Formats: sequence, C-alpha cells, structure tokens
Amino acid sequence: MSDILNLSALGLRDAIAAGEVSAAEATRDYLDAIEAMDKKVCAYNEIFAERAMGRAEEIDKKRSAGKTLGALAGVPVAVKDNICTSFGRTSCSSKILENFHAPYDATVAGKLESAGAIILGKTNMDEFAMGSSTENSAFNATRNPWDTSHVPGGSSGGSAAAVAARMCAAAVGSDTGGSIRQPAAFCGVVGLKPTYGRVSRYGLVAFGSSLDQIGPLARDVADSALLLGAIAGHDTHDSTSIDRPVPEYLASLDKPVEKLRVGLVKEFHSESLDDEIRAAVDKAVKIYRDAGAEIIEVSLPHSRVDTDEGGQLSSYAVACYYLVATAEASSNLARYDGVHYGHRTADKVGDIIELYSRSRAEGFGDEVKRRIMLGTYALSSGYYDAYYLKALKVRRLIKNDFDKAFENCDVLLCPVAPETAFKIGEKTADPLTMYLSDIYTISVNLAGIPGVSIPAGLSESGLPLAVQLLGNVFAEETLLRAARMYEMASGITRLTPEIVKEN
Ligand code: GLN
Repeated sequence: MSDILNLSALGLRDAIAAGEVSAAEATRDYLDAIEAMDKKVCAYNEIFAERAMGRAEEIDKKRSAGKTLGALAGVPVAVKDNICTSFGRTSCSSKILENFHAPYDATVAGKLESAGAIILGKTNMDEFAMGSSTENSAFNATRNPWDTSHVPGGSSGGSAAAVAARMCAAAVGSDTGGSIRQPAAFCGVVGLKPTYGRVSRYGLVAFGSSLDQIGPLARDVADSALLLGAIAGHDTHDSTSIDRPVPEYLASLDKPVEKLRVGLVKEFHSESLDDEIRAAVDKAVKIYRDAGAEIIEVSLPHSRVDTDEGGQLSSYAVACYYLVATAEASSNLARYDGVHYGHRTADKVGDIIELYSRSRAEGFGDEVKRRIMLGTYALSSGYYDAYYLKALKVRRLIKNDFDKAFENCDVLLCPVAPETAFKIGEKTADPLTMYLSDIYTISVNLAGIPGVSIPAGLSESGLPLAVQLLGNVFAEETLLRAARMYEMASGITRLTPEIVKEN
C-alpha cells in the first residue's frame, strides 16, 4: 500500500497543500487501488477515472499558481449512487434508473467539488437505500473488506467498504434508518448521520423524505468533522434544510468537553445484545468514566427492544419506522413510471396503465416492491388512521423520550447494531430479520437527532465492533468532540483490513 493511501483525508489535504504530494499522484494511487481491489470488494458502481485525473490536475495547477485551496483540495472521495451528479449515472443500484443521467449536481456533490474534493466514483447500495446489507443492489453485492464472505452492511455498504479498503479517502452516504452508521460499524469506519436539516437533501434521490439525511463515512473522527463542515449548511433548494450557522467542527474537536454527561441507554443494554458488543459498550463507559465524564442511566421506553420466547427481537421504533418510511417511499417512488424517468418496458402494451405496471414490475427489485405495497396499504383509506397516523403518534413519543434524556445528558451511548457483520445470504430469505439490523439506529432518524458510529476494535473472529453516540439536535459539535475523546482514549482508529495490507 502506498504511503498516500495511509494518510487520513485531513493528512492528505495538508500534504497536498504543503506540496509534499500532488493531487494527481493521490488520485492515481486511489484509482490503482480501486483497480487492484474492487474486483473483490465490489464497492463501486461507476468510476470516473479520466474526469478525476483532470480535476486533480486542476487542483495542482491552482496550487502552483498560489491560489487559495478549498478545505478538501485534492482529496479523493466516493459518493453513494443515490446522490445526483451531472456526470456519470445516478442509478440508486436499481434497474429502473440503470441508465439515468441526472441533469444537475446534488448540493452535497457540488459542495464537495467546490471544496476541492475529487469524486472518484459512485458507490453501490441497496436499491433505493432499502436494506441493511447492500445485497439488494440490482447489480452486485458489495463484500466486507474484513472478510469477503460477509456483508458490508447497508444501505451505504459501497461507501463504507470503499473507505475501509482504502479505495477512497472518505465518502458520503445517506441514512434513513441507519444506512450510514450500520455499514460504518460493520466495516470499521466512522459514520455520522447529522441532524435532520443540517445537510441539504437537494439531489438526494428521496426514499423517506422526513428521515433521509446525507452524512460522511470516514477513517477517523477528524475526517468526519472535516467532511461535515464541507457539506453542511442551509440550501434554498431544500425547504427542510435549516438556516443556522455551521460551526467549526474541526477546530473545536480537541476542546475537551467539560463535565461531559454520557447517558447509557438502559433499554439497549439488554440481554439480547451480542456479548462482544455489550463488552464494547461497557468498555466505552469505562473510558468516559476514566476521562472524568458522568455516566447517567437513561430510559427510552418507546425505543425499547423486546425479546419474545423464541428469541425474536421486536421494538415499537422498528414497527413505526417501517410504516413511516414505506408510506413515504410509496409516494416518492410513484414517479418511476416508465414515462418520466428510467426504464420503460420494451413489451407491446395496450394502454398507459399497462405501460406503468410492466415498467415498474421489470424495473424494481423485490424489496422495493414489498415496501411500495406496504406503504400504499398503510396510506390507503380505511387503514390510514390505524397504521400511518398511529405511527406518527408513536414517532412523537419516541422523540419525547429523547428530549427528556437530553435534559440531563450531553450525549447518549448505545450499540449500533445487534451483531457484527453477518454472512452474505444469511438474512436474505427473511426480511424481518434483516429489518431488525436497525433496531438501535432507527429511532434516531424518527427523532431527527444526530448519531455517530465509532470503531471499537475487532471481535474474536476479526470483524469490526462499534459503539454509537447520539446527540441532541444540532449538537454535532459536542457529539464529535465526545467521539474524539473516545477515539483518543481507546487508541482505536484507522483500522486496516488485511486485504489492504496484502495489496
Ligand atoms: N435498513 C433500513 C431500511 O432498510 C435503513 C435504510 C436506510 O437508512 N436507508 O430501510
């Protein structure tokens, strides 16, 4: 592995600014790494080699001319394939958008490029971000770089795997119910879901509009702060983005949080949790306590995880999410009708209705169809009150629990997922088991608060472990500082899988 690939995004940015490395060299090294490794990992749907090299050369020229460089000048990054770019395709890993070329850049893609980042390519995902393993991609299943017989998590599995395998310096993904944090946990990288409204969703292909949020996947906490600073901010193109100043996340990172109050979520620390994950959370408690933080037990009754006699997990949050998210998805995905966008059936059809139904039947995968049907049912007259409206009320109760918890705590500590990365194919036959992968991440989206997944070492079988920290709305600064405290004290950072070392 070249020394360049070993640098963090921040380290690389500084090395480029100092003239120690050129942006072209860095981009070339990353493209070579992709060439060597992506056959095994399948993290990318599309690579923009030529364009990336061209952009890198422009950055180098700018530097030689003494011009001011952006916060990410020359840093090669990857973008999830549901974030529109005016170049290449934006497929959402779906057949229905297989050849879709977006006519514009998502605000986040534009912001990355104006900060000088080099977009290497678009990463694989579960179709329309629906899934937890990246196996629902219409194209390829991405593999976990720590063990290629395991999933990388999802739906931003391509972005997480690309960061872990050093096939980009950092990446962006989207999180509707855990899709940044859970794959980050499975791949041993840092994944941050910002507060709803912190980052513009303009140009993010909508799944559950009241839950979706774009955020960074990075090798360490400082890189996450760097990326968040570059993509956050108000956007007049997204009416749900909030007009609030963007703090200097990176500059404040090492300011210790005085008298940090860490809430340990009682309901998530239950018997049903995998032993090694519970031990990782316990170790984090010790780390914070040793650093002088106060540990407070908090309760989130409406996010609680129950276990039935057969050992099956359940939670109101999961039930609530799968009504709200599917209802919104059924409405958002109505636009893929074979007329406006993407795939249109080649069959001879009798009328417009048949054109719609054939195109949609051919274009959508099974999980997406399942969600459209569930969501349409939950919104249909006669069932709306019993399902959708009820779910909205439960959502409010979940949010109230968080509001109460944050009266006494600065951050909350809990697991990210109930287990480490599972095997490819292990959960594909049972959607409910797959849905339960998000049992600890989903309530965060329902409440609109920020959450970050931080690596916590490796399990006995050599797979990444992680812990999750949650913050109050717009408290990303505190959240990142608390994450940094853990990272520094644990010494667990920039974990490197064997596959990279062999390369
Ligand atoms: N795994 C969850 C789902 O399938 C969350 C996905 C996401 O956050 N995009 O809906």
